[in-house]
Amino acid sequence: MEIDAEKLTILRRDTTKISMRVNGKGEIVLCVPLSLRDEGIRAFLQKHQRWIARRMRESALFCLDFSDGSVLTLFGISYTIMSGAHPCVDGGALRLPKDGREKALICLLKHMARKKMTELTGAVADKYAFAFRRIRITSARGRWGSCSDSGTISYSFRIAFLTQDEAEYVAVHELCHTRHMNHGYEFWREVERILPDFDRLRKGIREKNAVMKWL
Ligand SMILES: [Zn+2]
Repeated sequence: MEIDAEKLTILRRDTTKISMRVNGKGEIVLCVPLSLRDEGIRAFLQKHQRWIARRMRESALFCLDFSDGSVLTLFGISYTIMSGAHPCVDGGALRLPKDGREKALICLLKHMARKKMTELTGAVADKYAFAFRRIRITSARGRWGSCSDSGTISYSFRIAFLTQDEAEYVAVHELCHTRHMNHGYEFWREVERILPDFDRLRKGIREKNAVMKWL
């Protein structure tokens, strides 16, 4: 496996262990003992090439580089990031201020997620006669959506990184919990009745779980 030198940062530290991570920009950061030679580093990278390839694939799913000209795909639509005083969607552009860009983006994602998920959840609920109380957009990591006993459906703002079909699956999943508060046979039968190819969507979503770690 060839690793682009620009994508690799080697930090020599007073440590006995090698540690490695791939960040949201697809850069490999390797921490190695001071005494480790280049051959040792090459051997380590070689040995972990499958892990690296998987992480690189995950990071390629999202552009977490928020500089001007970068492209961010939200609910399946690609937007080019550009500068602007107020965060907003401006045609095919996502306008973000120069300072505090990540915070502004999160604010915009919350707004977009609220709009889209209110629309999707409402449409599925109307069509299949589900009742829910309200929708919340949260910053919770670890899950895309959840449903409380009282019928409040919560979605992570990161749901904006899913395609529209995948986001709809999450809405269907949570609405089915208003009838079945578990993941039993009846629950999955209900999901399947609404979305026969839900398994494909679940797989696509699982691949994107990594975004929870990065934003
Ligand atoms: Zn569930």
